[in-house]
Amino acid sequence: MSGGADGSGWLDRLVAIGAVTQGHFELSSGLHSPDYVQCARLLERPDLVQAAARDLVALVSPRLDEPPATIASPALGAIVLGYEVARAWECRSIWAERNPHDGRLAFRRGFDLQPGERVVAVEDVVTTAGSLRELVELLERHQAQVVGVATLVDRSGGGVQWRMPSAALVTLEGVQLPPGRCPQCAAGVGLEKPGSRPSGTGTKPTQESTHSR
Ligand SMILES: [Zn+2]
Repeated sequence: MSGGADGSGWLDRLVAIGAVTQGHFELSSGLHSPDYVQCARLLERPDLVQAAARDLVALVSPRLDEPPATIASPALGAIVLGYEVARAWECRSIWAERNPHDGRLAFRRGFDLQPGERVVAVEDVVTTAGSLRELVELLERHQAQVVGVATLVDRSGGGVQWRMPSAALVTLEGVQLPPGRCPQCAAGVGLEKPGSRPSGTGTKPTQESTHSR
């Protein structure tokens, strides 16, 4: 179901710009991993985001009968990628964001969907795909037709399954273990919690760092 781990060169490119790093990390899912994907290293490069979006569209396009009318992304990290995917598809780009009161994804800012509107859901990184699944459910509650799912990096090793056509530019066989079974915890290696917390020290995690994506 996932594509992209086929010599497209994107894994090498992500490593080269520091978007994939090695260490001992606590993911937003709470699981520990020896590698971490920081898509901001890609998203700060418009030229590379544009190239990645074009390649992602080239992967998903042949699996759709018709192009989408709209791209939808969950805030925050995926908005930029979704926007560039929409540019490549020459369609609209909208995003869902978390309601500060209940933490659920919702469309705000007057974003509207027509019944049956063809939508491709776009996410930057999926591990458990919690946010992306929630976005698909939100779109379906708005009576949109989710015709495809596209992600930049699938850390589940292709383990996340979708009812609709899906593709990832890079698929990683992510090793993700609970702290109790993590060999690096047992060895006393210092733990990093990258998430999307503010740069610097002494700052509290932002809400984005606590959601499961
Ligand atoms: Zn650990």
